[in-house]
Parts: sequence; C-alpha cells; structure tokens
Amino acid sequence: MVISIIGAGAMGCRFGVAFAEAGAQVWLYDVWQEHVNQMNANGLVVEDGVGGERTLEVNAVSDISRMPVSDVVVIFTKSMYTMDAITKAVPIIGRDTAVLTLQNGLGNIEAIREATGNNPVIAGVTNYASDLLKPGRVELKGSGVTKMMALDEGAREKAARLVGLLCAVGHNAMLSDDVLIDIWEKVAFNAALNTTTAITGLTVGGGGSLSESRQLLFDISSEVVMVAKAEGINASESHVHGIIESVFDPEMSGDHKTSMLQDRILKRNTEIEAVCGRAVQIGKKHGLKTPKLECVYALVRVIECNYNKICL
Ligand code: NAD
Repeated sequence: MVISIIGAGAMGCRFGVAFAEAGAQVWLYDVWQEHVNQMNANGLVVEDGVGGERTLEVNAVSDISRMPVSDVVVIFTKSMYTMDAITKAVPIIGRDTAVLTLQNGLGNIEAIREATGNNPVIAGVTNYASDLLKPGRVELKGSGVTKMMALDEGAREKAARLVGLLCAVGHNAMLSDDVLIDIWEKVAFNAALNTTTAITGLTVGGGGSLSESRQLLFDISSEVVMVAKAEGINASESHVHGIIESVFDPEMSGDHKTSMLQDRILKRNTEIEAVCGRAVQIGKKHGLKTPKLECVYALVRVIECNYNKICL
C-alpha cells in the first residue's frame, strides 16, 4: 500500500513511521526544506518517549512531482493549511485514492472534498501525541486511541487496512461507528482547553485548579456540544466533561502545554478558526448563542493578531 503523508510534522512523522514499520511504502511531503533535507541526509530520528531512539530511512520530499499516485493520501498539516496541502497533493490523487484526515478541528473534510471532488474520504481523531523536536527528529508522546471511519463506501476497505497496519505495530486503532461525533467531541474538548491555556499561559492542569475555571471549561464545551446537536450530531456533553475532568491530573496531561499554547509561545498562527471559529459560525446559522465560546475565540484571535504588541 502506498501512503503519502502531506505535512510531515510531529503527527505526520508519527503516523508515517507507524505505517512504514507496518510494511507500507510511505512518502513524507513537507514544505519545510530543512526538515526534508535532514531526513534525507540522516534519516528520521524517532525518540520513543521512554528513553529509546531509532533512526529510519524515509522517502522525504518537498516536490510533489517526485511522488507516486498513492493508495492513500494523509493530510497532516495544521487545519489552516489543509486547503493548500490538499490542493498541492492533487497530482498524486488518482481515481481510487482515498484521503485520510486525523487533524483537529472542523472544516478539514469540507476542504478535502472541495479540492478532490469525488475521491473517497476517511476521517478520524487521535489522542496520540508527538513533538517535532528539530528538523529530522520526532518525539512520540503518550499513548491513546486512534479512531477512523470511511465517509464513503469506496474507502471502507482502505480504512480497515489502515487500522490493521496501525494495530500491527501496537498502535491502539479502531474503526469508529460515528466519526462525526468523535470529531465534534474532540472540538468541544479543544475549544475549552486549547483556548484557555493559550490565553492564560497555563498548562492543562492550571485550568482545573479553580472551581470557577473548571466551570468555564465545562461551559465552553457544552456550547460546542449544543451546536453539534443542532447539526444533528449526537455528541455527549457528559462524555466531554468526563474527559476534561480526567486531564487535570499531572499523571494524565496536567503538565501538558496544548498545541495552541505552544503556538502562542512561538508566536505562530493557531488553529483557532477550526477549533472555535467554525463552531461559532455554525451556531449562528442555527440562531444559537455561544457567549463563552465567542469570548475565548475573540481573545485568542486578538492575541494571535497582536503577538508583537503584548506587554507581558
Ligand atoms: P506540525 O506543525 O508539527 O506539522 C505540520 C507540518 O505541516 C509542518 O511540518 C509544516 O511544515 C507542514 N506544512 C505546513 N503547510 C503545509 C502545506 N501547505 N503543505 C505541506 N506541508 C505543510 O503539526 P502537528 O502537531 O503534527 O499537527 C497536525 C494536526 O494534528 C493538527 O490538526 C493538530 O491539531 C493535530 N494533532 C496534533 C497532535 C500533537 O500531539 N502534535 C495530537 C493530536 C492531533
């Protein structure tokens, strides 16, 4: 199976390594030339998070024309670059190519459909984590679960094969019964945790340290769940609240800096539109009020538009 990863950053490398070690022919495409050069010159160094490391030879490219038409194209950029990434990937998308997204946020599926037309799409979520430490070096973090589902009949067999490849290398992967619920519940979680950590500068545990801030997290996520339900997606408020409760513990993710906080620290664009902005818009379409979601959305937006003016 030929699998091409578009966006070979932290997660693209993590999943690329898993698919390659399971026997797939994997291609890693990225626009970051230094990272691509490093992988080609010295391989991709994989730190396993528990003190070990290994180096893999990989096919890394920054020129799509060097890649084959693929059985599966995996989009693993941050969500604000999905449209650019999938548009670049069009030359390696054949009639039967399936496109997989495991990215966070809303709007990725729609962007993929807009750029590819009739190609079958597989969507999913993952709470595995990783960091790209420097060009050519990735650190795998924690364990979790990856769920995916073919949104079109034509990708059903490929989704099962991808899950099989991941499971073959010990990755906890499964087919989802209703991936839109999974995606919206993850958005509800991220809309609460990622925004508030980016605004306060605290790690995940910080948000759980006061009853008032805990309540804010529950309220933001409840507003997203309300929007999901208006869209006909049966997301569960109690499920999302349970997950939020569980991550404050330092043994879980309490010490974790969310990706949005890391983006703020490094003054990078954030995934705020996909994580909050789209839910706000969809809520408005249904005539719903989402005041707390809109508040954190506006605060993250104003921070990312004014990085160089922050007085702290
Ligand atoms: P990342 O920034 O580490 O990697 C993205 C890569 O995409 C970068 O190497 C970048 O150079 C590349 N890129 C940017 N624009 C591109 C384009 N137009 N074409 C091709 N490549 C392009 O991001 P990440 O942490 O791997 O996150 C990817 C997605 O996975 C996000 O939606 C994120 O929310 C989600 N996610 C991340 C984690 C994590 O632990 N890192 C966990 C779960 C989900």
